[in-house]
Amino acid sequence: MDTSETGSLSPQALDHAENPRNIGPIDPHNGHARVTGPCGETMEFWILVERDKVEEASFTTTGCDSSRACGSMATCLAKSKTVEDATRVGHADILSALGGLPPDTEHCALLAANTLKAACRDFLARRDTKMGEERSMKDPDCGSCEKSQCPAFEREKGESDRDFADRRQLHSRLCRVGRKILVMSGKGGVGKSTVAVNLAMALTMAGKRVGLLDVDIHGPSIPTMLGLEGEQVLTHMDELVPVEIGPLKVLSLGFFLRNQDDAVIWRGPMKMGVIKQFLKDADWGDLDFLIIDSPPGTGDEPLSVCQLIGDLDGAVIVTTPQKVAAVDVRKSVMFCKQLRVPVVGVVENMSGFVCPKCGEATQILRSGGGMKIAEDMNVPFLGAIPIDPAIAESGDDGRAFVHSHAESPAARAMRGVVDAVAALDRRTQ
Ligand code: ADP
Repeated sequence: MDTSETGSLSPQALDHAENPRNIGPIDPHNGHARVTGPCGETMEFWILVERDKVEEASFTTTGCDSSRACGSMATCLAKSKTVEDATRVGHADILSALGGLPPDTEHCALLAANTLKAACRDFLARRDTKMGEERSMKDPDCGSCEKSQCPAFEREKGESDRDFADRRQLHSRLCRVGRKILVMSGKGGVGKSTVAVNLAMALTMAGKRVGLLDVDIHGPSIPTMLGLEGEQVLTHMDELVPVEIGPLKVLSLGFFLRNQDDAVIWRGPMKMGVIKQFLKDADWGDLDFLIIDSPPGTGDEPLSVCQLIGDLDGAVIVTTPQKVAAVDVRKSVMFCKQLRVPVVGVVENMSGFVCPKCGEATQILRSGGGMKIAEDMNVPFLGAIPIDPAIAESGDDGRAFVHSHAESPAARAMRGVVDAVAALDRRTQ
C-alpha cells in the first residue's frame, strides 16, 4: 500500500481502504455492472435484491486505496435499502460517510456511485424484461397499450425498416410518460432553462416522477444549474441512463461535452439525430412529466422535438417584459398553434426587481408586456417572476431557487407555472 496516499486519508477512509467490506463477486446475484471511470480505473458491483431490498452488495476495483474505500462504503450504504433508494446513493453520500477524501481522489466516489447505480439499473432492467415477457397480450415493445390500438404497430406507407423500428422504439418510450411539456422562448437569455429546472424540481417536490431533457444544444446549462457538472451518462445494454438527482432524471448534451467551453457546431440533421437519440435511447422509465428545455427560437430544434414527440401536451412560453419581446411571444404562440401544441401559458421573467432589503418593487425593464400579449393572443398568463439575484446565484451554485428560496416572491410566482402544469397530470402506471 502506498503510505503517502494512506497518510492523507481520514480514519474512516483508511479503515475501509485497509479492511474493505463486501469485496469480491457474489453468487447468486441479480444485478451487475462494470464501469471504467475517466481515470482509467474499473470498478465492478454485484447486488442481490430480494423483495425490492438490496440484501447483498459487493465490489472489486482495479484502483487505489481511495477507490477501495469508496467501493467498500458504497456497498455498506446500499445494503438494506430499497433498490430505488440504493440507486440514489450519490458520490456526496460516499464522501461524507468516509469523512472526505483528498481532492485528487474524490472522483473515486463518483465512480463507486455510478457503478452502484448501474448495478441497480441492471436489476431493474432484468425485472422489467421479466415483467414485459409476462404481458404477452400487449404490445411487445412497451406493454403500455393493446396491440390493436397501438399507433406504432402499423408500418407507415413507404417507411423503411430502420425508420419503422426507430418509431416503434420512440413510441414505446414515450408511452410511459404521462405528460410531455416543452419550455420555449423566442430568444436566449430570458430564463427558459431557469424556468425548466425549477418547474421540474417543484414537480418532484410534489411527489411526481419527473424527467428533464435539455435539448438546448448550443447552451446546455442544465447540468450547471443542478450542480451536476462532471457527472457522466452511463450506457447500459445500449440504453442511455439519465443522471439522477434525487427523484429527478436528467439528460443533457452538457454531460457529453468533455469541457464546458467546448462549442457544439452541428448541422441540422446532426442536431435532429442527437435529439432523437435522447428521446429514443434513454431509459426514462415511467414518468408523470417529461420537461423539455428547448433551444430558443422557433427554428429547427424546437421543430424536431415537436415532430419527434408528435403529441406534446403543452408548451410554457418564457418571455421578458419589454415591448420587443412581444414579437417573439407572438411567433412562439403561432408556432404552437401550427404544430397543434396546446399553450399552457406565458410566463414573464425578469419582471421588476424586488429590493431584498426594503421589499420595494422597481421596474427595471418596462413591465406587463407578457400579460398584455397573453391577453391579445388568448392564451393564459401564468405569472411574473421578478429579477432576484438569488435566482442567478442558485443557478450558478447548482441549486433550484424553488427549493433554496421557497418563500421568495420569485418562488411564489413560479408556483403559478407549476400549478398550471401540475393540473395536466395524468398518472401512468
Ligand atoms: P435561457 O435558458 O433563456 O438562455 P437561463 O435560464 O440560462 O436563460 O438564464 C440566463 C441567466 O439569467 C442565468 O444566469 C440565470 O441564473 C439568470 N436568471 C434567469 N432568471 C432570473 C431572474 N428572474 N432573476 C435573476 N437572474 C435570473
